[in-house]
Amino acid sequence: MEPTFTHNKMNRIKSISESVIREMTRKAEMYEAVNLSQGYPGYHTPKRLLAAAINALDNDHNQYSITWGLEELRVGISEKLDKFNRLDYDPEKEVTVTCGTSEALMSSILAHVDPGDEVLLFQPFYENYVPAVCIASGKPVFTGINSDMKIDKEEIKTKINRNTKAIVLNTPHNPTGKVFSYDELKFIRDLCVDNDILVITDEIYERIVFNGKHISLASLEGMREKTITIGGFSKTYSVTGWRVGYAAAPIELMDEIRKVHDYTTVCAPTPFQKALCEAFKVPAQYYKRMLEYYKGARDHLYSSLKSLGFEPFYPHGAYYIMADIDNFGMNDIDFANHLVKDIGVAVVPGTSFYDSGGDDLVRFCFSQPRDDLEEAVSRMKRLRTFSQ
Ligand code: GLN
Repeated sequence: MEPTFTHNKMNRIKSISESVIREMTRKAEMYEAVNLSQGYPGYHTPKRLLAAAINALDNDHNQYSITWGLEELRVGISEKLDKFNRLDYDPEKEVTVTCGTSEALMSSILAHVDPGDEVLLFQPFYENYVPAVCIASGKPVFTGINSDMKIDKEEIKTKINRNTKAIVLNTPHNPTGKVFSYDELKFIRDLCVDNDILVITDEIYERIVFNGKHISLASLEGMREKTITIGGFSKTYSVTGWRVGYAAAPIELMDEIRKVHDYTTVCAPTPFQKALCEAFKVPAQYYKRMLEYYKGARDHLYSSLKSLGFEPFYPHGAYYIMADIDNFGMNDIDFANHLVKDIGVAVVPGTSFYDSGGDDLVRFCFSQPRDDLEEAVSRMKRLRTFSQ
């Protein structure tokens, strides 16, 4: 997608299409389809968080919090970053609570990408990244994740030039489920250090890793000062509607992010910030069980898709499966429309994750409650492959 280098902001916004993921959710409602498009976590929210939210509402935590987020929550995030991610950030100056990871990403890009700056995105990409770069008048540049789920180091080197301002990294990766390896992260580190490039790393799925290990890029030597680490609570605690995430970055980078955050949102929802202070007390068992739950869902959907005639990619993390639809003789849009209208299952067409390509792919989400997954699989038995 070529951004429009114009000072006419309306045209720039008009050139961005609406989110296909969220459009599919609306279609799912319209056709009463099982929604495997937008990632709705089906795993239960810890009871202590629900009780804490009710308490927060009852106990007058209903007005603005300070702009950067409740101090107690920032301290909790900073301790989590230390223990889980091996990152050292000062809660006072280097952590900001945002309205979900989406806002952390948008504020980071608006703060640091200037008109004409190039931003490297791994393709397929989560669909918010391109509009974020375009809204900042930056230029998205794409590099592929290969079908063997590896990055192409040689191709990446050819995409870097003196206009390259930043790389957006997402590990575990939406939509492929790729978990970036230490070797790949070291390669990205060397590239960024040699070429003075910033990395915005979206780690929202950090707790959903089935194979391999989650590594935060900022923990690699030389990357702390070049990385904005973003994450959130939505996926880990099944609270996507609470809209609470965070950005962590060294002061010089954070100062600018805070300005965008301040003037766009004022603050994240106070009662939910208060409730999420309890998140750090959730016992280790919770994370273990959640992982087992999603692993079971992955294995179930993966094998079901294979037997239904899809060619799915095996995800190592996050909660999505990309699947090749070649056997159904339709492009991704026609197939997704057929699936939602005639079969009653909503998925996301592959092209929404690509600048070019993806029309032979659709994305399934397996985070939904198990009954929904089973119902979707049973409905899809009515699908006919090309050869049938
Ligand atoms: N990240 C989720 C997905 O890819 C939800 C997207 C959204 O609408 N924020 O489905």
